[in-house]
Amino acid sequence: MPVEIDMEKCGQIKDCPGEGLCIKICEQGALIEEDGKLVIIPEKCDDCDLCIQNCPNQAISKKS
Ligand code: SF4
Ligand code: SF4
Repeated sequence: MPVEIDMEKCGQIKDCPGEGLCIKICEQGALIEEDGKLVIIPEKCDDCDLCIQNCPNQAISKKS
């Protein structure tokens, strides 16, 4: 199941303490920037969980 983004916690990518860290670490290209905000392409996500572990704002999670 693809990850989910909490848009309130993530906010604008320019305000991300990691400067869009999740986009840089996603090897599948499943996280992209669109109009300054983070967008997930669910079909590309392979559930590696790297973005969940590395987001400084804990803005990415999975439904349990
Ligand atoms: S690392 Fe976290 S806060 Fe930064 S852009 Fe990604 S989801 Fe948003
Ligand atoms: S779980 Fe992995 S593949 Fe999916 S969006 Fe996060 S970093 Fe990318």
